[in-house]
Amino acid sequence: MSHLSAIDPTFADLGLNPKLLAALAEEGYTTPTPIQAQAIPFLLKGRDLLGLAQTGTGKTAAFLLPILHRLAADRRPAPPRCANVLILAPTRELASQIDASIAAYGGDLGMTHTVVFGGVSQVHQVSAMRRGVDFLIATPGRLLDLVSQGHIDLSHTGVLVLDEADHMLDMGFVKPIRQAVAMLRSDRQTLLFSATMPSAIATLADGLLRDPAKVEVTPPSTTVSRIGQTVMFTDPENKLKLIQLLVKPAEVSRAIVFTLTKSTANKVAEALTLAGSPAEAIHGNKSQGQRERALAGFKSGAVRVLVATDLASRGIDVDDVSHVFNFDMPNIAESYVHRIGRTARAGREGLAVSLCEPEHRAWLHAIERTIGQPVPMSTDHPYHSEAARLSTMKAPILGGGKRPQGGHAPRGQQQAAKPARGQYRHPR
Ligand code: AMP
Repeated sequence: MSHLSAIDPTFADLGLNPKLLAALAEEGYTTPTPIQAQAIPFLLKGRDLLGLAQTGTGKTAAFLLPILHRLAADRRPAPPRCANVLILAPTRELASQIDASIAAYGGDLGMTHTVVFGGVSQVHQVSAMRRGVDFLIATPGRLLDLVSQGHIDLSHTGVLVLDEADHMLDMGFVKPIRQAVAMLRSDRQTLLFSATMPSAIATLADGLLRDPAKVEVTPPSTTVSRIGQTVMFTDPENKLKLIQLLVKPAEVSRAIVFTLTKSTANKVAEALTLAGSPAEAIHGNKSQGQRERALAGFKSGAVRVLVATDLASRGIDVDDVSHVFNFDMPNIAESYVHRIGRTARAGREGLAVSLCEPEHRAWLHAIERTIGQPVPMSTDHPYHSEAARLSTMKAPILGGGKRPQGGHAPRGQQQAAKPARGQYRHPR
């Protein structure tokens, strides 16, 4: 976790517009996440920002809330084909998510917004831009297409956000980004978010940001040694059946099941309940009351299984969690450490079992590099994926060490942690 002052600020302490505060209450957000608490004060002052944070930390609201606040305080509709704010994102999914977040947080402020990405017809995107918008969220390639055809004019844009900049660079977007940036107002406010800080990002940031404030959410680097870890390779269509089987035994006295998305959390909780293991899902779409009731049930032991997304799990402070199950592998290595650290607390032992789709083996390898040890594979279940055999044979694990079969990693076999590729780098 990051360095917060002794008393965590509330959203109201940050001085946000009352309509934004109302929208946040509606979303069920009670306290700012660390990246929000750190970034929002700088951004409200109009500072440039370099944010080291990954998805799942609440970074979208960290940049949207202060931008919405400032726009609302100085409402100037954008001229035709122009945008007040440009947000660049690597994928259409992320762009669409940001667009949905603007609708959720800024709906009552009457902000206009549109999203532009490739792979679909440009007709609607062109007509949405005709009158000008407050927020344009775009993937770089399609943005430049529309600019070159004269449908979008970037000369008016005074705020630029580069989200997941490392992914955009990995996807070869550096040239379109630079071309787009060259068209923006020179007195703009610029924000760059990245989960990692390779030299290419540092160079990009140096060129784009002016005296940026730097904020980061520090990833944890060690795995608790008392946690027994296992990975089970299984195909996506078998995951629900496998998790139903895994939570059944009586020794699973209190378990948290992690999913990547809210809808999967709901599905898993339903499937477990149907199979006779009553489970509750907690995530951002649940009301505060629903979440409090689920947590209280989990603490008291009335609910044995809690299904949570990464961010929703932040508020879970329960000591005797016997098992953590990763229904979905986390796509960020540090999340794995956060997740499994929910068990084996207060001197107890704990088990962490991860269901890995063969397609996600690269995520597992990133995790193994981060924790500095292989996660032992168990084939002792009826839903083992044959596709996994090939993938694990091909994959080098920590310099080619043989992957132990079943059981838990022998203590003595743990190796010193190497920095993972794509892992956090501090800004120079
Ligand atoms: P992000 O890192 O922006 O992708 O956000 C991850 C998830 O956290 C999203 O589902 C948000 O809706 C949710 N979220 C963001 N900020 C908060 C907060 N302060 N409290 C609770 N949930 C939040």
